Amino acid sequence: MNNRLDAVTAPVNKIIRFSSVDGPGNRTAIFLQGCNFDCRYCHNPETRRFCIGCGKCVKTCPAGALSQTPEGQVRFDPAKCVSCDTCIKVCEHDASPRICEMTAEDVMKEVRWQQPYIRGITVSGGECSLHPRFLKELFEIAQKEALTCFLDSNGSYDFSKDPELMAVTDSVMLDIKAFSPEDHLNTTGAGNKTVLANAKYLAEIGKLFEIRTVVAPDLFDVTETVRCAGEMLLPYLQKGAKIRYKLITYRPMGVREKYRNMRIPTEEEMMGLKMLLTDMGWDDVVIT
Ligand code: SF4
Ligand code: SF4
Repeated sequence: MNNRLDAVTAPVNKIIRFSSVDGPGNRTAIFLQGCNFDCRYCHNPETRRFCIGCGKCVKTCPAGALSQTPEGQVRFDPAKCVSCDTCIKVCEHDASPRICEMTAEDVMKEVRWQQPYIRGITVSGGECSLHPRFLKELFEIAQKEALTCFLDSNGSYDFSKDPELMAVTDSVMLDIKAFSPEDHLNTTGAGNKTVLANAKYLAEIGKLFEIRTVVAPDLFDVTETVRCAGEMLLPYLQKGAKIRYKLITYRPMGVREKYRNMRIPTEEEMMGLKMLLTDMGWDDVVIT
């Protein structure tokens, strides 16, 4: 068990005890706070940044679950929270006051409640790979307790340089948000050289569970992205790798006001992208 004084912590935004959309089977999903991308279609913008202590949410919480220290630090009392989300709606800084700094052991205590009913855990974000030491500690404990360990990542962390993390990671769900560097920059504010290198590296070592692309035609060339990503990974499929391609329909729910008017792709467009992949040789393509 960790000595609490020495233990690495990570800022946990929320823990969903049962999730069937964050990897294979029933899983507990752990969402960490903070992201190094700024995706225009982000559906959870409140996970991107950290509280600056403006106090706006403290005044609007209807349940008295938030308070502020004289130094301006926001305190959260989970026992009083009624999960109304007023705080994240009023926050203008893409933050949340409901963040708990937790050690790996703290998280595992929450996981063990439902351990007999889950196949594993998935850590998402924000961007979970901003906390590699925490991930290693968490996954080491979880694997010893017979749980599979998945990462949901934007691909900005060079996984090939962290063999210790890869040794305790069963598989990764990786976003390819756009294929061309220009489109990726326009969509996320960041380049994609490491993302694409990660896709190939993870496919090579058999730890690429799923590629995810949010189909937002106003932001990037969706056909080029799906075709190029599909072709890039095809050699690994042909060598026997099992990789799913998940095509996610852009929808404006949860998206920041200034980006809400982007076009939603039609069902025909989504089916066309799926056929592009299946014609190429992909046999596991999912549209959500
Ligand atoms: S969470 Fe947002 S609204 Fe609340 S105090 Fe922090 S910065 Fe202000
Ligand atoms: S969700 Fe936020 S505003 Fe609502 S009760 Fe909880 S802390 Fe307060």
